[in-house]
Amino acid sequence: MEVLRLCLMAIFGLVMALVIPSINAQVPEPAPAPTSDGVAIDQATPTLSISSFLNKEEFANISVNFLNLAKRPELFDWIVRIRRTIHENPELGFEEFETSKLIRNELDKIGIFYKYPVAVTGVVGFIGTGKPPFVALRADMDALAMQEEVDWKHKSKIPGKMHACGHDAHVAMLLGAAKILQEQHDDLQGTVLLVFQPAEEGGGGAKKMLESGILDNVDAIFGLHVSPRSPIGTVAASSGPIMAGSGFFEAVIKGKGGHAAIPQHTIDPILAASNIIVSLQHLVSRETDPLDSQVVTVAKFKGGSAFNVIPDFVTIGGTFRAFSKESFTQLKQRIVEVIKRQAAVQRCNATVDFDTKNRPFYPVTVNNKALHEQFRNVAGQMLGIDKILEKKPTMGSEDFSFFTEAIPGYFYLLGMVDETKGRFESGHSPFYRVNEDALPYGVALHASLATTYLLEHQLKSTTRDQNVHDEL
Ligand SMILES: [Zn+2]
Ligand SMILES: [Zn+2]
Repeated sequence: MEVLRLCLMAIFGLVMALVIPSINAQVPEPAPAPTSDGVAIDQATPTLSISSFLNKEEFANISVNFLNLAKRPELFDWIVRIRRTIHENPELGFEEFETSKLIRNELDKIGIFYKYPVAVTGVVGFIGTGKPPFVALRADMDALAMQEEVDWKHKSKIPGKMHACGHDAHVAMLLGAAKILQEQHDDLQGTVLLVFQPAEEGGGGAKKMLESGILDNVDAIFGLHVSPRSPIGTVAASSGPIMAGSGFFEAVIKGKGGHAAIPQHTIDPILAASNIIVSLQHLVSRETDPLDSQVVTVAKFKGGSAFNVIPDFVTIGGTFRAFSKESFTQLKQRIVEVIKRQAAVQRCNATVDFDTKNRPFYPVTVNNKALHEQFRNVAGQMLGIDKILEKKPTMGSEDFSFFTEAIPGYFYLLGMVDETKGRFESGHSPFYRVNEDALPYGVALHASLATTYLLEHQLKSTTRDQNVHDEL
């Protein structure tokens, strides 16, 4: 069996190398047999029958069956263990080496072919035929530079680093989906790409993944984010623009330092920076269509270190957001003008830096309409149509937007609030907690969306082929 499996994996690697030109085929080390620590598949568990002979009822049952598979206690325990291990060992953007290693180890154990490294620490796994259609599922891997204040057994072991945005849960859920999809891989009508990406929190890891070319042939991509706002068992999503495009700016305002009691001999950059901040607030309130949502926030102000010294310079920095490319570009241009000209009014010089190399601008996240319909079908069948909440657009941003800019994409929120489990703080709070009971829903949604996407598009292409033959 082992020899046969290795042969199949080698053949799969060859097929992938031929089908996706950018993949430099790499067959993983021989995968060990599933172990008994919860990795093994329970033979008595429900199975799916996904084939082109599916009738409508079976099609509708796919998502319900996947939820049953995802809720198996041994699978749940395994996902929770993975999530907690990652939570204890948080790593910042492009430094997710141990997280990436854990992912590859698990993929090896499951017997999934993958490509590594992609965008420094990223991993892309492949399940299915190795042929089109190609559908991608994405999880981000990075943590935040902050100290965890939650007092629990699996608290972060790394001072000053914490998974406070749920990306540990995202990785665990995608691995869970990998496992149940691999169990059904013979029935997949195309190829699922498992995209484990680095550096979502400001580093633009998604952009780097795209630049690697590994997603060039992907037809659609799905991503999710756990939500401390909506109840467990619900999802929140909508079609069209759902999250803003965003950028960061930093400005240095230079004056002339001196004694605080003799201001006439100085050029005070603190006062100049203060006026700049006030003027920046006029951009949205006075220059923008009130129906076109935009934000300018100065979140950083650094200057001076003594009570009686006017400093030489002040550094300010912040973020700006908009819901269209045009508004974003306009806002960017006006930020530069306002900072420089307002500084000049007060005899200061200013430089403005967007540092897009380290902090790339994030595009607007736009959900594809057809994928929204598919999502409603899948989530409706799995959870009930009343459990699909409408996600109102927010000024937050996500680097999933790079994917939706390049490929038809769909991003949704996975509810995890359970009032009996106390308060769930919002993302980036030092008290942030993940409700692990929500994980099976994410696993099942990932698997169902990928499976039904392939099925629908395989059926479509088959129909298309038949039409061509008919015409001939
Ligand atoms: Zn975050
Ligand atoms: Zn996040």
